[in-house]
Amino acid sequence: MSRHLLVRYHEVALKGKNRRGFINALAVNARRALARGGLTHPVRQDFGQIRVDLPDGADTSPALHALSHVYGIARIAVADRTGWAPEEIMDGVDRVIEREWNGAQSFRVTANRADKRYPLTSVDLNRQIGAFVQSRTGARVDLRGADVDIRVDVREKAAYVYVESIRGAGGLPVGTSGHVAAMLSGGIDSPVAAARMFRRGCTVDFVHFHSFPLVDGSSRDKARDLVRVLDDRQFGSRLHLVPFAEAQRRIVAAVNPAYRVIAYRRLMVRIAEAIARRAGALALVTGESIGQVASQTVENVAAIDAVAGLPILRPLIGMDKQEIIDEARRIGTYDISILPDEDCCSLFVPRHPALRSTPQEAERLEAALDIDELVAMSADNMQTVTFPG
Ligand code: ATP
Ligand code: MG
Repeated sequence: MSRHLLVRYHEVALKGKNRRGFINALAVNARRALARGGLTHPVRQDFGQIRVDLPDGADTSPALHALSHVYGIARIAVADRTGWAPEEIMDGVDRVIEREWNGAQSFRVTANRADKRYPLTSVDLNRQIGAFVQSRTGARVDLRGADVDIRVDVREKAAYVYVESIRGAGGLPVGTSGHVAAMLSGGIDSPVAAARMFRRGCTVDFVHFHSFPLVDGSSRDKARDLVRVLDDRQFGSRLHLVPFAEAQRRIVAAVNPAYRVIAYRRLMVRIAEAIARRAGALALVTGESIGQVASQTVENVAAIDAVAGLPILRPLIGMDKQEIIDEARRIGTYDISILPDEDCCSLFVPRHPALRSTPQEAERLEAALDIDELVAMSADNMQTVTFPG
């Protein structure tokens, strides 16, 4: 008898020829996640499933924790592998009951023969195992809303016994969709936006604008710390740190205070786009959500979009702050995001910036600026940090 983790993915993601790429990426990411946790358990593809083989007597929680960061996993089960003989399967069932029963009042058995040479039918197996479980626990059978669903998968020469219990991160494996560049402030929202793109299978480069030496370097440190946490879901990241102080000085000299935030954002988007193109990214990502702050009215979003050549993806656009905070807590970025920092966007801007800019207005205000020069200067002076360090 040995113990394994059985990894399930959403079958809907597996249409047609994407299937192999999806499963390979999932296996690669599972290995990387385990390696991050210092674990070297073998990860195998078996009957269209992914299986992690645990060493004898190993604690399952470190591996489960590592896999909880892997997108594309719907569920994970801790399974006992047994021999083919019904007595051996019952031994496995016994063990699973001991481990996962938790006072259940009702149960069902779902047996499944991937190897049809097995002498008993699934119905026979369900019946025999059901009778055994009933005699061991006194619980009743309930096919609809059972507290515990005991699963038995009969494969070639072996059976896996488990209760499907642990929910995975869902979505698609990182690396199966396109590459994007996320604009990362030190705030709560943008790390969540980046994680949402991971969950759709994208790989993400990060771009952070800082106003050092006009302010201290705390926003850069936060950006680094945030990417370090996010990288546990992507397994290899780049953070581009872009000096923005000189550009801000020029904007301050040229643009009326109420419009400075919009001017900063429009310039950031242009610079981020130059960096994105160099990095092979196909879209920009921001953490904006409509109405959250003055710069995020529909009008201002439109004024920002007007300068973009690449699509700007805004995965949080319809979320409210509490939902975003809950998600930031789940992905582990919240505690870093709420640390105080000196953020570039709050420099030289009034408490109540313009709520309704237009692209025309913004363009007129920017007329005195040499935008191309500013974009080239910032992109040339950026510094790139890679993770893991
Ligand atoms: P966040 O919590 O992500 O900072 P926010 O609600 O504070 O968002 P804004 O400050 O208006 O909103 O920023 C909107 C978006 O612009 C951010 O989500 C981020 O994608 C981008 N952004 C803002 N400041 C920076 C920065 N210094 N570097 C890179 N991107 C930034
Ligand atoms: Mg912010």
